[in-house]
Amino acid sequence: IAESQAVIMKRASSILKEVFGYDSFRPFQREVIDNVLSRRDTLAVLPTGAGKSLCYQIPALVFEKLSVVVSPLIALMNDQVQQLRAAGVPAVMLNSSLSPQEYQRNIDALQKGDARILYVAPETLLSPRVTDLLASLPLDLLTIDEAHCISDWGHDFRPEYRQIAAVRRRFPRAVCLALTATATERVRHDILTALGLDEAAQFVAGFDRPNLFIEVLPKQNALTQTLRFLEERRDQAGIIYCFSRRQVDDLAAALVQKGFSARPYHAGLGDAERAANQEAFLRDDIQIIVATIAFGMGINKPNVRFVIHYDLPKSIEGYYQEIGRAGRDGLPSHCLLLYSYGDVAKLRHFIDQKEEDERLVALEHLDALVRFAEQHAGCRRIPLLRYFGEEPTSTRCDRCDNCTSPTATLVDMTENAQKLLSCVKRTGERFGAGHVIDVLRGSKNEKVLRNRHQDLSTYGIGTNLTAIQWNHVARQLVRHGYLVQEGEFRTLRLSDLAIRSLRERAPITLEAMPQGEAPVRRSPS
Ligand code: ADP
Ligand code: ZN
Repeated sequence: IAESQAVIMKRASSILKEVFGYDSFRPFQREVIDNVLSRRDTLAVLPTGAGKSLCYQIPALVFEKLSVVVSPLIALMNDQVQQLRAAGVPAVMLNSSLSPQEYQRNIDALQKGDARILYVAPETLLSPRVTDLLASLPLDLLTIDEAHCISDWGHDFRPEYRQIAAVRRRFPRAVCLALTATATERVRHDILTALGLDEAAQFVAGFDRPNLFIEVLPKQNALTQTLRFLEERRDQAGIIYCFSRRQVDDLAAALVQKGFSARPYHAGLGDAERAANQEAFLRDDIQIIVATIAFGMGINKPNVRFVIHYDLPKSIEGYYQEIGRAGRDGLPSHCLLLYSYGDVAKLRHFIDQKEEDERLVALEHLDALVRFAEQHAGCRRIPLLRYFGEEPTSTRCDRCDNCTSPTATLVDMTENAQKLLSCVKRTGERFGAGHVIDVLRGSKNEKVLRNRHQDLSTYGIGTNLTAIQWNHVARQLVRHGYLVQEGEFRTLRLSDLAIRSLRERAPITLEAMPQGEAPVRRSPS
């Protein structure tokens, strides 16, 4: 006889209290758990720290058979299994870190039906031995953690994740729960398609973290800037992210020399040293951890008061995940990004060595980040939230540098913006900014003549501005989401926002033109 859903959810609440010791669900936990327990496939996009683990751990304890969790983070897996066991939950894991004896013991436990939760690494799951074993067991729930790894459009694509889709088909009876902290609309779509979750319910939590102050500073002397920042935060815990291992070591040493308690963390250190440094940071024995992005996956330290990006992150997803490690306790925390065009060039250089497909994706991720960092006016939360598909509810937050101390002002630029947008449209959305500007300014160069662009109605309507000024307008239109810049040749096309604005003749406000012959840091063409 089917139990009513209310009774089942009551059991979920008592497990929350008795096994995990919490009085109430966090936002979205109840909804996700309710949905999973009704055996409906589910995609949940919840920010780091939101409490995604309970979304499968509680259903696993309500269900009677086995629940499987696929996770790429072996270190994290170990922690979770330890914690569950400490709470009396029979959990096991299968991954490459186990000795043959431990591995066999866990297989035996699964075969005997002694385990309720199995954590498995994707490559382990794909081994025929494990797939066959699982196919012989009754499975209630298949959870895919870090589900964005399935999409080659995400920032952390893992090919073995793609094949999980096939494994999923072997367990049609199990309900499927896909979890991730960052997924743009496109990545969400990829996850659903790859896993065949046509009817899945989606839960996407608000991404805003209002207690984080967001600041971007032009990087001049990074060490001096960092020391100045730290001077005012003598006893606050924080993370400093650097690009390379060498940079991590150098900076950690420099900070120690200046009297700060700091330790390095990167994949080049021995396991023991890395674990010890992490532990010291978690226990508040040291103030600062200087790290590559290897640090922080699954780290749960509530009182991180600041995150500094000493070097440029590779994507908005990465940036947001990293700053998301600050202020888990909800108290005000500061996120500082040091931005330099030199870093962009350095990252481009690395990206250029990638394979074609990967290269284009990486370039677009970097471009989005550069646009965010170079925005000198308007609230910084707006592009961040829009990036994750959320429409901001307010035009200013008062918790970012642009809101509290604007360095540029937004002015009405409707007429020039319309000229440029129309010219992009008329030239067929096939050219970069350089050519569009040539057409606007009535150039008779070879490319203009060859394409017969001197015949267009927008030809020569832009002699009111210099090429440098038009470049400013183009860059602003990209930054504010009116133009989309794509591919190797940075071709421009109109966004939906631009089409709507042209149709409705909506006013377009952009950053004011720099005074005089302002230095142009970067041209979109
Ligand atoms: P995520 O995977 O979304 O980053 P976790 O599952 O690691 O988040 O949870 C983050 C922290 O929040 C953990 O310490 C967890 O125990 C705690 N937590 C989760 N759910 C609750 C709750 N309902 N009440 C209080 N704390 C919770
Ligand atoms: Zn703001």
